[in-house]
Amino acid sequence: MTDAVTLATVDAWLRRFAAETAEQAAWLTELDSAIGDADHGTNLARGMAAVVEKLDAAPPADIPALLKAVGMTLISKVGGASGSLYGSFFLEAGKAAAGADDLDGRALEAALRAGVGSIVARGKAEPGDKTMLDALLPAVDALQAALTSGSALGDAVSAASDAAAAGRDATEPLVARKGRASYLGERSAGHLDPGAASSAILVKTLADTVTAA
Ligand code: ADP
Ligand code: MG
Repeated sequence: MTDAVTLATVDAWLRRFAAETAEQAAWLTELDSAIGDADHGTNLARGMAAVVEKLDAAPPADIPALLKAVGMTLISKVGGASGSLYGSFFLEAGKAAAGADDLDGRALEAALRAGVGSIVARGKAEPGDKTMLDALLPAVDALQAALTSGSALGDAVSAASDAAAAGRDATEPLVARKGRASYLGERSAGHLDPGAASSAILVKTLADTVTAA
């Protein structure tokens, strides 16, 4: 286990996320078929496959460049709300990491918080609106709390992953107030939010990669 996130770790994280979204694409799309338009898994898996192709074709020289390449690729390859939201997450995370070589826990937290902040700015959702933010905001808060209490990086990202999973599960009873699912009103309750589900995968693959590094 390591106490800093390197370029190789970020590369491995996003490849792991690509593999996991491919594996879970049918489930994510099934979630989206209940309260959306049944494209979330296919959208994200297609976008992440394009990310892997891009990383193979032109390996970025540092973490900020890698995050920028991921963001640009998702924005151009993924239709739908989640493409521009995940795209801006990675673009802003990359900007926050500008000039950094490796990311220690605090720098990782700052990059993720900047990314999540851009999803808030762009999508104007609040906690409890039944969106990806219901997984991502608690994850970043848990990361911060764990680092503040002196946890090692691996333990802190694992705490973030647990918080994201809990946030995903907590979307089930909620009524959606943003995105396509909000068109269903009360009928959106009783289903997990697909974006919260994919965001929990994003944080889990980060934890799995950091703890394996
Ligand atoms: P679309 O809804 O355009 O088909 P996707 O199916 O790929 O896009 O993604 C849907 C997910 O996007 C939702 O489950 C939700 O988590 C997320 N989402 C939608 N609108 C917003 C928003 N305004 N803010 C944050 N997340 C959002
Ligand atoms: Mg959809």
